Amino acid sequence: MTAFNDDDNKSCIHANNLDEGIQPRTQGCEECEKEGMHWVALRLCLECGHVGCCDSSVGLHGTRHYRETGHPVIMALPDKSWKWCYADKSYI
Ligand SMILES: [Zn+2]
Ligand SMILES: [Zn+2]
Ligand SMILES: [Zn+2]
Repeated sequence: MTAFNDDDNKSCIHANNLDEGIQPRTQGCEECEKEGMHWVALRLCLECGHVGCCDSSVGLHGTRHYRETGHPVIMALPDKSWKWCYADKSYI
């Protein structure tokens, strides 16, 4: 029995089953490349390898990919410095 609350367990359940070595399907944002649009930064979907653009980009294709597929976790490209869970709205 511990007096303090061991409540440091806010880890994202979606992060458990991810393949961080997943291969990006495209070099740039898949939708932006098709439409000749420009993006600011890229996000890699860790479920399927979709590459979409960030929320600072016009296309918002990373967020749109989550809305359309329900794939919750993305990783920043190309530096892979952080991951974000759309479902939990938190960094992982
Ligand atoms: Zn999550
Ligand atoms: Zn895009
Ligand atoms: Zn995906």
